[in-house]
Amino acid sequence: MKKPTICRYCGGKVILTNSSRIYGKDYGNIYLCTNCNAFVGVDKKSEKPLGTLANSILRAKRKETHNVFDSFWKAKNMTRTEGYKWLSQKMGLPPKSTHIGYFEMEDCQKVIDLCNEAA
Ligand SMILES: [Zn+2]
Repeated sequence: MKKPTICRYCGGKVILTNSSRIYGKDYGNIYLCTNCNAFVGVDKKSEKPLGTLANSILRAKRKETHNVFDSFWKAKNMTRTEGYKWLSQKMGLPPKSTHIGYFEMEDCQKVIDLCNEAA
């Protein structure tokens, strides 16, 4: 995943900054749009973004999706790796692209539907 420099929502400038600027607490660095406040978390070691830049609606949806998906594979007695393998097959995506941090609203909803159907 490339480092974002231009916001995909508004075209604003994206900077690498500390998450305390958003949360008032240090959860590591984020890439933040200085115009609309869309952001994404950053891997501590590599400084690579943990997905694509997300606005507040998409961040909430990804969080919900993570909750549903994590509960699903745990309830099915899968490991995390097995869970993601199942998801990549169901989504028809290569494993390296199967990350909720990359997903848009409709992809997130698809994950939730797939988990509910298979539960
Ligand atoms: Zn923006």
